[in-house]
Amino acid sequence: MEKNKKFPSKELLEKTFLADLHIHSKYSRACSKFMEIPFLAETGKIKGLQVIGTGDFTHPMWLKELKEYLEYDIYSGLYVYNKLPEGPKFILTSEISLIFSKNNKSNRRVHLIIIAPDFKTVEEINLYLSKLGNLLIDGRPTFGIDCEKLTLDLLKISEKILIIPAHAWTPWYSVFGAFSGFDSLEEAFGEATPYIYAIETGLSSDPEMNWRISKLDNITLISCSDAHSLSKLGREATAFFYPLTYENIYNSIKTGNIAFTIEFYPEEGKYHYDGHRNCKVCLSPKETKALGYKCPKCGNPLTVGVLHRVELLADRDEGYIPSNKPLSVHLVPFIEIITEVFNLNKQSKSAEKLYEQYLSFAGTEFEILLKLDLKDLEKVFPSKLIEAIKRVREGKIFAKPGYDGEYGIIRIFESPEEEGLIGLKQQSLFTLQ
Ligand SMILES: [Zn+2]
Ligand SMILES: [Zn+2]
Repeated sequence: MEKNKKFPSKELLEKTFLADLHIHSKYSRACSKFMEIPFLAETGKIKGLQVIGTGDFTHPMWLKELKEYLEYDIYSGLYVYNKLPEGPKFILTSEISLIFSKNNKSNRRVHLIIIAPDFKTVEEINLYLSKLGNLLIDGRPTFGIDCEKLTLDLLKISEKILIIPAHAWTPWYSVFGAFSGFDSLEEAFGEATPYIYAIETGLSSDPEMNWRISKLDNITLISCSDAHSLSKLGREATAFFYPLTYENIYNSIKTGNIAFTIEFYPEEGKYHYDGHRNCKVCLSPKETKALGYKCPKCGNPLTVGVLHRVELLADRDEGYIPSNKPLSVHLVPFIEIITEVFNLNKQSKSAEKLYEQYLSFAGTEFEILLKLDLKDLEKVFPSKLIEAIKRVREGKIFAKPGYDGEYGIIRIFESPEEEGLIGLKQQSLFTLQ
């Protein structure tokens, strides 16, 4: 089977809206200074997102800005940027980092996304958190509290708060991470487990990988960008059925009623494979096991990636496809398609210019990638660009997995000068169904 065997139909797209629920503001470490509401609203609009998480609501300065820019919309229970009312709506979100000991193991590190219905609830959450640590240091603050206790305490503030483990598989800071995590949600959340309705799969894993774990069958899988800069907005996203309201987003996450998720190729994520970045050693889970988890270059323990962790916890074979799950749609961001087709640098001005030009011809990024008839684009797009979009939709691409903090490489066309690329379609003949 190849990726994207099932692609969302036009009928399905008409019934759904796209939300990116995890981003960061300019107040988070290593984030762009352009992560401000006016730019986020504008970028979200041209990408085709209808809901964007505000990120960082725990940060007092950012919260002050949010209150200046955003107005509560009583019809949706969401927030609207007052100067761009036709733009995407905003939902109050934040991410926190917890470092704690549990079950005789110290240094557990878990990142959680918190979603809240309104400013009043956010203020109560912040008051609670401010007693545990300093909210001003970082847009993603760190606390020394157990995730079970934190979840139970937050739900006392409001039942309408959602708590979602972020990038659930990354090695260093996640609920299932190889170095600091747990083997199950029950082990991490104890009595609070029934209130954990969803996990964020993160860039290095996709729903297909998560489906291999039967314990996650009743957990909703969401995808978000975790963007630190505007261009990364919506690189992963979750499609919900209408109506576009807080209540409906909350219930859909609670019950798993999601239409589809937009996925990064997990191979492109920074922690898909195992290895050592400094030693330039990149290994599959099988190779790591054969080497006894030691780096063949420096002899130190290898950084065990997401695929490896999933395989350790999986009770189903690779390629298992459940019948009743939302579609998993793998895409390549449009700017990356353009840079490959025109052989440009990702950060170059000319790539950016072409990106804007093609969007102005055709509509939003997601309309181009998901919706528009490729025939209709023939007049305005060169044929190689159309061929590239077609291949992305069909999931026929080449990849070189990321490892130990190094992004992977995705290519739409075969590239002889790039070593180590594997055709995903070809690979799947052997490893998937
Ligand atoms: Zn984040
Ligand atoms: Zn090494």
